Amino acid sequence: MRPRIMTVYGTRPEAIKVAPLVKALRASDQFESVTVVTGQHREMLDQVNEIFDIVPDHDLDVFAHGQTLNALMAKVFERLDPVLVEEQPDAVLVQGDTSTVAAASLAAFYRQIPVVHLEAGLRSGDISSPFPEEANRKVTSQVTALHLAPTETSRDNLVREAVDPATVVVTGNTVIDALLHTVGQKLPFTDERLQQAEDAGRPVLLVTTHRRENWGGAMEGVGRALRTLAERYPDHLVVLPAHRNPIVREAVLPHLQGLENVLVTEPLAYGEFTRLLALATIVLTDSGGVQEEAPSLGKPVLVMRENTERPEAVEAGTVKLIGADEQRIVTEVSRLVDDPEHYATMSNAVNPYGDGRAIERCLAALAHHFGIGERLPDFVGR
Ligand code: UDP
Repeated sequence: MRPRIMTVYGTRPEAIKVAPLVKALRASDQFESVTVVTGQHREMLDQVNEIFDIVPDHDLDVFAHGQTLNALMAKVFERLDPVLVEEQPDAVLVQGDTSTVAAASLAAFYRQIPVVHLEAGLRSGDISSPFPEEANRKVTSQVTALHLAPTETSRDNLVREAVDPATVVVTGNTVIDALLHTVGQKLPFTDERLQQAEDAGRPVLLVTTHRRENWGGAMEGVGRALRTLAERYPDHLVVLPAHRNPIVREAVLPHLQGLENVLVTEPLAYGEFTRLLALATIVLTDSGGVQEEAPSLGKPVLVMRENTERPEAVEAGTVKLIGADEQRIVTEVSRLVDDPEHYATMSNAVNPYGDGRAIERCLAALAHHFGIGERLPDFVGR
């Protein structure tokens, strides 16, 4: 009997990082694959599944506008449990640190089903930032049987928390597999304004923002900072693929009206987003995944957060933590535009997060875990 791996995921970033593994599990003759989506993000999740050609076996459809984290968690527990009973998986695989991950891993644990955690061991060291992700990933680590850590730093974090090192494999991050796969395809822009931007050859400041800690006043400040920058650098194009969350949109978008050189788009399909990332001159973000992708394309990244669970690219000098203060954002972006030497120092391509072979290592680690194969050597980032 082939081990039956049930992958549970619910948001866009999870889907991007887990989709190549789901495809590999389906293609493998060593495993059976069952996919469950919670639908924590609805449209942005469906968009990724379509790109990777995944039709989930179960859809828990937990999304509701404005629901609390507790309501979301309760729905995942309630709706996943019968699926666990019906499908009887040999392991439940979760990715990252969303509320879907915390709920699904606990639900599996309560049913005594081993949990496999992809992208295990990331830590900011501050339980309230990112919120609620730092707590989600710590909870998941407690009930995980096999930890697929992306880097040596994340492995060390787990070992420091007394996780048995024999249960940790350093795989590299699957997002680099996904990135290398899609960026090479040069998928067309569906938004013609992006194609025009590429044709015009204007320098692009690419901005993404959604973090819960920045909701409210800080995000208003991000909007004002973008306005100042757009006015200061009329030759530049500021591109903001706006997150679906209305809280984010209401805080940022009113500040950007009437500016010729600000382009606000809907969330972009992954292929288009990576193409835009490759085109960008500077990246300003509070995203986790973008902090991993941009350095491998040699883009300087300014991170609108006080801390990060991804210190590797900060140490390599490609990522800088600047917080979400309006003035600081203006100063740091201006410095990159005005000081070519500073720009050159920050735009080194580094790959501390992966070499594009994470999926192979994950499959081998799973096979080893079930006694049907050998592990591959760990990924070494430096
Ligand atoms: N992304 C995308 N389209 C967009 C913006 C981002 O496909 O319009 C991708 C991006 O490449 C990265 C992921 O979404 O892989 C990051 O998602 P997000 O910032 O929402 O979540 P986080 O990584 O912070 O958890």
